[in-house]
Amino acid sequence: MSRVYNFCSGPAALPEAVLKKAQAEMLDWHGAGVSVMEMSHRSAEFMSILASAKARLSRLLNISDEYEVLFVQGGASTLFAQIPANLANGFDSACYLDTGAWSSKAIKEAKKYVNVDVVGSSQEQNYSTVPDLSTLNLDSEAAYLHICPNETIGGVEFSELPETSLPIVADLSSTILSRKIDVSKYGLIYAGAQKNVGPAGVVICIIRKDLLARSSDDLPSVWNFAHLAANDSMINTPPTFAIYLADLVFEWLEEQGGVEAIESVNIRKAQALYDFIDASDFYSNPVDPAFRSRMNVPFILADDSLDALFIEESEAAGLRTLAGHRSVGGMRASIYNAMPMEGIVALIDFMRAFEKRHG
Ligand code: PMP
Repeated sequence: MSRVYNFCSGPAALPEAVLKKAQAEMLDWHGAGVSVMEMSHRSAEFMSILASAKARLSRLLNISDEYEVLFVQGGASTLFAQIPANLANGFDSACYLDTGAWSSKAIKEAKKYVNVDVVGSSQEQNYSTVPDLSTLNLDSEAAYLHICPNETIGGVEFSELPETSLPIVADLSSTILSRKIDVSKYGLIYAGAQKNVGPAGVVICIIRKDLLARSSDDLPSVWNFAHLAANDSMINTPPTFAIYLADLVFEWLEEQGGVEAIESVNIRKAQALYDFIDASDFYSNPVDPAFRSRMNVPFILADDSLDALFIEESEAAGLRTLAGHRSVGGMRASIYNAMPMEGIVALIDFMRAFEKRHG
């Protein structure tokens, strides 16, 4: 058996060391005689895993006591609805910045719960850039400002935050733990696990404690952030195996030197790939260079009749899942934390050879 370089946008590659550790612990977790999948979520063993995952994440992101770390179910898409259902209670509107497909989906769901004020959009630029954050027309009475700082499909990323007194709610699904962030600048951060955290099935939700007071008792309990916080994310059975894997990924990240260390690797990986693409007439990236994502690198071939062949030959070369999202086509290399520099080198070598053969 040989593992390939996996460029899937999510569920994405996991660190091999993590998979091996999970494999070694599969039949008998730390002498429990059962796997994590088979133990009660209320057992001391699982409670220790949950506590460890929370503690490691808090260390990695330097999360203060003013925040609650929740493990939520249903995917990031559920939070598109769950967030306005909790945080817009008692407010007339919520502000949303529209920078791509995932912001748009969040807006569509939020509209079912609250008046959505789209305060900026790059739709007319085909989502290839980010609106000027200093000119957003923010209503100070709104419930919050929602942003998606890394658009997984468009490959657009921004790290500056707008100046505002509104709580900033950020969908960090495809960028969490890939770069340093100042958690204290956010009201709520959420991220589906299946890119930089672990397997699908759990969403990281970091919420400023004062915002918990907004959740109404009329909400379904499993949706209620205040109830989730009061019950340590265990109103019902949590996705125990996904949380366990997340803990192993956090441990791996600590061993790599933490977020700052992985960020410098991520910068070098993305730079190498963009430099190669920019130097070529055969490949191109459509995103404003100021806002190119370090995690998701879309690129197109000058001759799109070669797309299918590119996919076929790249798969044969051990480079998996390079096709762009079905809504945009072209190619996309998702290069999260678990993608080593060797994978980028292999991809560039392949792209160069493909251009030679077919360019
Ligand atoms: N937000 C972003 C930025 C994403 O990339 C994705 C998934 N690719 C989602 C939300 C939706 O995540 P899920 O499939 O877990 O609902």
